[in-house]
Amino acid sequence: MTQATIIDGKAFAAALREQVARDVTVLKAAHGVTPGLAVVLVGEDPASEVYVRNKGEQTNAAGMYSETHKLPADASEADVLALVGKLNADPAIHGLLVQFPVPDHLSQARIVAAISPDKDVDGLTVTNAGRLASGLPALTSCTPVGCMLLLKDVLGDLTGKHAVVIGRSNLMGKPMAQLLLAADCTVTIAHSRSRDLAGLCRQADILVAAVGRQEMVRGDWIKPGAAVIDVGITRLPSRDPERAAAGKTRLVGDVAFDEAKAIAGWITPVPGGVGPMTIACLLQNTLTAARRIHGLEA
Ligand code: NAP
Repeated sequence: MTQATIIDGKAFAAALREQVARDVTVLKAAHGVTPGLAVVLVGEDPASEVYVRNKGEQTNAAGMYSETHKLPADASEADVLALVGKLNADPAIHGLLVQFPVPDHLSQARIVAAISPDKDVDGLTVTNAGRLASGLPALTSCTPVGCMLLLKDVLGDLTGKHAVVIGRSNLMGKPMAQLLLAADCTVTIAHSRSRDLAGLCRQADILVAAVGRQEMVRGDWIKPGAAVIDVGITRLPSRDPERAAAGKTRLVGDVAFDEAKAIAGWITPVPGGVGPMTIACLLQNTLTAARRIHGLEA
């Protein structure tokens, strides 16, 4: 039985980070501009802390300026909005993101609305979502951008392919669908109210799963030869009881990987597939934002 080609997101992301670092060197030398990224973290969610620390380290490694602002879990919305306003006005900062989820007493929508669209490197503002949907240059959510880079790398031209995206969040499913549409795919967006999800998936030349339900997509949902992009991340206790007792965990995707790899043409693993692309694309978005703010790119 033929096996799918495993898409190595880790290697692709490393090459992308190196490319961004080279572009940053050129930007600094030619225009004296150092791209700057500010990340705001509210509260002490351990997974978010690790993610934010990685963002800071990789931003510095790319030769960019990085700031992390930690606010206590009981910070008021006025405090968060005031910080966002300060960073919007700071000329050293070109990319600004607030790590979500935020504690329940804060409105994610109001925080997003306060971020300057020029610095919105998560692509969450209405302005950037609208620009993406209208085919205008936009800062676009990092993970869907990363998925597109992987798909274009393995498939080349996506014209006419039927893409099924499971999930319709503003961060993932919707921008993913827009990017696939812009690449001339025929796009189906599925969600928790969709009927016959398995039947929809079986039609997909490209299947993107962005749900957060472990191994929901089974092997027999996949069209033979399809490209399968597994965005979902569920953290489970380690299989090794001793490691599990010590609090060690493992990551599982939305796709039953062992079943799917026997049917698909290409597939991203979890971990090591889409995950590493997200921060690499964040660096790229920060560079793009810096170039646009300084009038060096449309
Ligand atoms: P989200 O906001 O919770 O959205 C999940 C989507 O899945 C919703 O649209 C929901 O439909 C849909 N859904 C839920 N149950 C379903 C079901 N049984 N059948 C079909 N659709 C179903 O999550 P998100 O932010 O988009 O993230 C999705 C997953 O990707 C999560 O596991 C997240 O951790 C992961 N993620 C990974 C990265 C990365 O760097 N690799 C980045 C972002 C997200 P409704 O709209 O109908 O509720």
